[in-house]
Amino acid sequence: MRGLPLVNNLGFYEIRLEAIGGMGANLAGKMLAEAGVNGSGLNGVSFSSYGSEKKGSPVKAHIRFCELTTQIRDTSSVEHPHVVGIFHEALSKTVHVTSGISPDSIVLVNSTKTPAQLKALLGMQGGKIAVIDATGIALKEKNRVNMAMLGALFKVCPFLDSQAMRDIVSKSLGAKYPQAIESAHRTFDRGYEEVIFEEFSLDEKENALLPSFKHSSSSYLGYENQPIGGMITNPGGNYLKDLSISRSGMIPSYDPESCINCAGCDNVCPDMCFVWEEKIDRKGRSQMFLQGIDYQYCKGCLKCVTACPTSALSSMKEKEGYADKHSVKLHFDLATQLQ
Ligand code: SF4
Ligand code: SF4
Repeated sequence: MRGLPLVNNLGFYEIRLEAIGGMGANLAGKMLAEAGVNGSGLNGVSFSSYGSEKKGSPVKAHIRFCELTTQIRDTSSVEHPHVVGIFHEALSKTVHVTSGISPDSIVLVNSTKTPAQLKALLGMQGGKIAVIDATGIALKEKNRVNMAMLGALFKVCPFLDSQAMRDIVSKSLGAKYPQAIESAHRTFDRGYEEVIFEEFSLDEKENALLPSFKHSSSSYLGYENQPIGGMITNPGGNYLKDLSISRSGMIPSYDPESCINCAGCDNVCPDMCFVWEEKIDRKGRSQMFLQGIDYQYCKGCLKCVTACPTSALSSMKEKEGYADKHSVKLHFDLATQLQ
């Protein structure tokens, strides 16, 4: 049995995973807790919270560990985590991913950025930042992001036994997908080996500036400040939404040279990302021609790639800035006229 490095005043070591539906944070949390209980002789619990059960919506998994002499009678959200695991760096655009951290907390991020770049992106004054390119590893090993994140989390939490985790993976995949065990182990091992750390010092003044806990249901409008009648008077609508955080690493790329304008992609796209323009074809007839994709609304489901009968659409790993550079903007004539 390995002891916990530090605990809060209730005797718990707490971990919060911040992810997007479909990335496997719920399962990762359960496996993490099982490994702590079976492999390290701890008491442990894991549960998740999410809104609509939809691929692309934010998800939190909460894990608590304590010594066997402490009972767990608390299933409230983890508000002051010792470790935060962020499965997608773009979550920081809309979710308070670092809320409630302390100077001792470790923030682990799935990213290709450096710890210094992430410190700036997450608005952190200092503290410990760990980085793993979990998406890159998962793509290369043909496995899941959560397995690479689990590997990194085990490195971040040295009281957990990585062999116990490997046994749990073998047990849970063994019955249905025995062929996936090897790649899951490789992905886990690479997450464990390749995570990097950097610590940024904090002076006393900066300690006071660490982000306090913000509940995920915190809203700008509530019963105290919403207009009488509940009417939201500021202009807005779906066209202002940015679904880019829903993409979990992959994006469709469009090659107009191979496109036959069949609209197969548009028929399957759930978010109407495709931009068309009416032009005259070679026979002098009016026809709609595909101009490109408005990536603001693309959640990376890749249904369009599967539907495309030519090689005009293909899936690629999303690189920083690609979507902004290649987006063809949709025109919302009515909405913009009303503004
Ligand atoms: S991946 Fe393709 S089908 Fe899916 S949302 Fe993006 S453009 Fe639409
Ligand atoms: S499905 Fe492929 S070929 Fe057809 S319009 Fe879309 S991109 Fe072009």
